[in-house]
Amino acid sequence: MITGKNIVAGKFSNTGANTFKTFNPELNLDNEWDFFEATADEVNSAMQEAVEAFELFTVCPDDIRAKFLRAIAQQIEALGDELLNVYKMESGLPLNRARAERSRTLHQLNMFADFISKNDWRGTFVEEAEPNRLPKPKPSLYKTHIPIGPVAVFGASNFPLAYSTAGGDTASAFAAGCPVIVKSHPMHAGTGELVASAIVRAIEDVDLPPGIFSNLNSGGIDVGKQIVQHPKLKAVGFTGSIKGGRALYDLAASREEPIPVFAEMGSVNPVVISSNALKTDLKKWVEMYAESITNGTGQFCTKPGLLFGIDSSELDEFAVQLSQKIALKDSTVMLNPSIENNYESNRQLAIEQNNVAVLTEAHDVKPNYGKQTIATVDGTTFFSNPTLHHEVFGPYAIIIKCKNLQQIQEIIEHIEGQLTGTVIVEKEDFEDFKPIVKALSQRVGRLIYNGVPTGVEVTEAMTHGGPYPASTDSRFTAVGVHSIKRWIRPVTFQNFPKELRPV
Ligand code: NAP
Repeated sequence: MITGKNIVAGKFSNTGANTFKTFNPELNLDNEWDFFEATADEVNSAMQEAVEAFELFTVCPDDIRAKFLRAIAQQIEALGDELLNVYKMESGLPLNRARAERSRTLHQLNMFADFISKNDWRGTFVEEAEPNRLPKPKPSLYKTHIPIGPVAVFGASNFPLAYSTAGGDTASAFAAGCPVIVKSHPMHAGTGELVASAIVRAIEDVDLPPGIFSNLNSGGIDVGKQIVQHPKLKAVGFTGSIKGGRALYDLAASREEPIPVFAEMGSVNPVVISSNALKTDLKKWVEMYAESITNGTGQFCTKPGLLFGIDSSELDEFAVQLSQKIALKDSTVMLNPSIENNYESNRQLAIEQNNVAVLTEAHDVKPNYGKQTIATVDGTTFFSNPTLHHEVFGPYAIIIKCKNLQQIQEIIEHIEGQLTGTVIVEKEDFEDFKPIVKALSQRVGRLIYNGVPTGVEVTEAMTHGGPYPASTDSRFTAVGVHSIKRWIRPVTFQNFPKELRPV
């Protein structure tokens, strides 16, 4: 049952007067529940409880935290269809997507449970003392990693489960031994509350301190700002827009004690297609890209937004067939009217730029539906117009017709950091494409060969991140077990007896 209340260290709380509702974009009306925005006192209580709980959580054995992560997965599963239905009502995303995202969320929790049970994830490193070393003795050194402290998690609108309340950031922070304060996303506050209550039940199941988790509601940005400015907070995990991520990053940097903000933000995900690949398999690439651009109404951070090719009859044919395929697809609903408004204004801005031609665009769509659009422009115009380099979050992509591979390389060297970069090539292209691959690897976190960038494997070898503005720290991944490294810090014990070191 959804109460609309905040959860502060295991207790439901609604001391404030400000309320907001979530919205059903498919039906174009408000959902029934009222959500209470967290007050400054509730933020302070959540932080204070987190600090106290950290004392215990930081020494909680790995197998207990693993049990806790598995218990969260079980409690989320036990929410059954109610969770899936609320997810659909708050996002417009279909039930099959809700099921897939729930599976991924459970997998992430269980994956971290396995990881901390079976691995030396603290990267312990021991150097023995050398008392006879000259000119002076060497001390014994024992290096390990410890949890950083209370972490704030901000989820994104487009992943109400896998990148939200119990998503990758929360799972990895709990795995590391950090308390988590979730700033619930206002577009799916009901989904967030259900998942948050599952976390509370898991805390009770495993008998952990309730202060390790709070879920705070807000209809605007104030609660998030208060959380980030709280002096006891030690780090922030954010998934969302570049504007939001950058604002929180700047806020965290301006604190008396600056703290790290691991923000995973927008991306345009360049794709370079060779003429040979189009000659060999045009139909296959048209099908795959029509699906990848429009899947989930294009609301993926890994949606391919820029398609580069050499100006040729093959690229023209690709553009025609891709546009036809996309025109035949039914328009689909977006997550929220504000996401649709942003899409519409960013799409309009892009297609109004000089020398941009629209190849296909949907008209007369239902309220909150995204107009799927394919545009095209020449490489020289694209290079000199940064407006065309920005993310258009929705079912939009632009085909960039370039003079030659050298021009594509120059453009890639010029664009901002990205989550992914893709090359579509035949064997005979390998030599010519080496400079493109090199340029892409300087710009992105993940390179894809002959595929699409949408669909992120949650595995140990995954990198989901990239140079700014894809993320605020390109040295880390937000997906996969190594994302735990964001929430731990190294500490070295010199000449310390075993009995006094952490277990
Ligand atoms: P968003 O508008 O940035 O919101 C994300 C969260 O940040 C919300 O809880 C929002 O709260 C909060 N927020 C935003 N601006 C803030 C500010 N100035 N101060 C304090 N809090 C702030 O993003 P979204 O529309 O939900 O998600 C879509 C974006 O996420 C797209 O750009 C997409 O590419 C990106 N994304 C990235 C990844 C990735 O892994 N890199 C994954 C999924 C999505 P309020 O709504 O209350 O303001």
